[in-house]
Amino acid sequence: MPKENKKIPCHECKKMIPKSAAVHAEGKDYVLHFCSIECMDYWKKKQKKEKKNS
Ligand SMILES: [Zn+2]
Repeated sequence: MPKENKKIPCHECKKMIPKSAAVHAEGKDYVLHFCSIECMDYWKKKQKKEKKNS
């Protein structure tokens, strides 16, 4: 059974996508999955904003 057929939700827009097609963002202690580069960029921009505010 190929595990690649498993579907996961995009971290940003919650759309279900096949894991094999997901875009990954890796940090020190986490791996996030996105449906597209656009969603990953959007999330990255949000992270920068939150860091500035704190
Ligand atoms: Zn998305």
